[in-house]
Amino acid sequence: MNSISLFDLSRRVAVVTGGNGGIGRSLALGFAAAGASVAIIGRNEEKNQRVLSELRELGQPAIALRLDLSQREGLAPAMQKVEDELGPVDILVNNAGIVSISGGILQETAEGWDAVIETQLNAVFQFSKLAAQSMTERGYGKIINIGSMYSYFGSGLAPSYSAAKGAIAQLTKSMAVELAPHGIQVNAIAPGWIQTDMTAPIRTDDLKEMHDEIILRTPAGRWGQPDELIGTGVFLASSASDFVTGTMIRVDGGYAVR
Ligand code: NDP
Repeated sequence: MNSISLFDLSRRVAVVTGGNGGIGRSLALGFAAAGASVAIIGRNEEKNQRVLSELRELGQPAIALRLDLSQREGLAPAMQKVEDELGPVDILVNNAGIVSISGGILQETAEGWDAVIETQLNAVFQFSKLAAQSMTERGYGKIINIGSMYSYFGSGLAPSYSAAKGAIAQLTKSMAVELAPHGIQVNAIAPGWIQTDMTAPIRTDDLKEMHDEIILRTPAGRWGQPDELIGTGVFLASSASDFVTGTMIRVDGGYAVR
């Protein structure tokens, strides 16, 4: 076996939720560069179209679907559209997410809580179920969930986010156990602190203290870039990881081991 071809994604169809954003865009482009056809999903049409152009420049078939993942009735038609236009889904990345920095449960509202859980957890279950139904028919599939440092640690500022990301770790393991006999691997990536729109507020003067703490605690001494997730993403999406399932790989510059 050629070690490079292990990472080849030619003839694979990948869906990346939140594929118009920081980490999702990098993963989508990384998959396309490795040969995959890619569907991205996001709510903002302008961002969708921008990333779709970048994907098409790489020469692979690609589509962008405008969809709010918290609207459950839209999920099955979206998956069907991907399969109609690109073919059966081989790779699903559950990446879309929002955060509610409420300041803790004393400040958290039910609406804020629900919005985070719906996008970061419930949609992951729903979309994974749809993808797995298709993957089991072919006995092949890769599901990649995006966890967080808050899959491991508590957050006094964003408890809904931490609750969802902790659940992602357990859901990843549970789906891995269930789906392994069907030839489907389910893994997660836990990014450390990555420079994207989601973390932009931390790089303003208002949250300078938090910013400095992050840099101090991260042994690499810097923010991660979205493209630094591509290697792990392609590994988990490809045959290189066929005997890897139920794990969460940290890409965090050492944050979690300090
Ligand atoms: P961005 O804000 O850059 O991207 C978030 C993406 O999610 C966007 O594409 C957004 O698209 C999409 N999205 C959000 N809500 C919905 C929804 N209801 N329906 C459809 N799409 C939605 O953030 P990141 O790239 O940083 O985050 C990606 C993932 O990585 C998230 O799960 C996040 O929790 C996780 N993560 C990020 C870390 C970081 O440091 N940046 C660290 C650890 C984990 P649109 O706006 O068009 O809806």
